[in-house]
Amino acid sequence: MTAAHPSESTLAPGSIGQAPGYSRTRWGSTTITTVYDGALEIPSSGMSGESEQRITELLADGFLPPEGDLMTAVNTFLFELGGRLVLIDAGAGSSLGPSVGHLTENLQAAGVDAADIDDVVITHVHPDHICGLTTADGSPTFQNAVVHLPELDADWIDSAPVRGVDGLEAQISEWARAAIAPYREHGRLASVAYGQEAVAGLTAIDLSGHTPGHSGFLLDDGKPILFWGDTMHCHPAQLRAPQVGTEYDNDHACARSSRTNILEVIRRNGWAIGGAHLPFPGVGHIRFARDEPYWVPVPYRPLQSV
Ligand SMILES: [Zn+2]
Repeated sequence: MTAAHPSESTLAPGSIGQAPGYSRTRWGSTTITTVYDGALEIPSSGMSGESEQRITELLADGFLPPEGDLMTAVNTFLFELGGRLVLIDAGAGSSLGPSVGHLTENLQAAGVDAADIDDVVITHVHPDHICGLTTADGSPTFQNAVVHLPELDADWIDSAPVRGVDGLEAQISEWARAAIAPYREHGRLASVAYGQEAVAGLTAIDLSGHTPGHSGFLLDDGKPILFWGDTMHCHPAQLRAPQVGTEYDNDHACARSSRTNILEVIRRNGWAIGGAHLPFPGVGHIRFARDEPYWVPVPYRPLQSV
């Protein structure tokens, strides 16, 4: 075989790049814009809570290789609420390499100026959710925004190094403290406890375990949708087997029970989901059929009320 593949020989450089990383979904009276930050590896070697064989089977049922999902989406969500422009999570910034950290360019592609964002609501303090708050030189990405941190995570990052736990926890805390530093300095850092509203109409839900203050945020204007952070990293495995955790869960037992409990709450209430690591654009429903939940994403379609 000597001829080059058509994609190598006939297409101009750059012409096979992906479409811009944003997508809009009409949700009741709200328009949710998913803004893509990039892709991260979630290897199966870091999964626990089930046998290796069972995890491999679950991955295979999701058409994933035994190694896991090596291009897991990192999504953020933008919407207007009570006249304020709200962003859920800030992406990885420059913390985790070039596969992520594309939030700003994708916001621009969506026609949104970062300076127009009023509130950035953080689900938890891990780098792929918080480090995009600042640019590589430490300046605030969102010049006019108030940053809302889960209260227990805010306490955690201020106390973790003092507790002298392992290097990873200290590194996470250091990154997170650097990411919030300019906001703290200018009095634009707020904390939100479970059950409280970060912004009027957006309520923090206890999803603790992944981190001590890991939070979901429920937007309910008649068509409720829960934005969860890292309740699931690999939904083909974890939806059907919520006992499966990842190495990124800080307290494995607590993360497992949070995952199991929230699935029951979602089933009972019919909440939709916006997921940081669900496939882009990460908005959809969980269908509970014969006790086995599966993911039903929203389709790409024109904006209209549904
Ligand atoms: Zn994450």
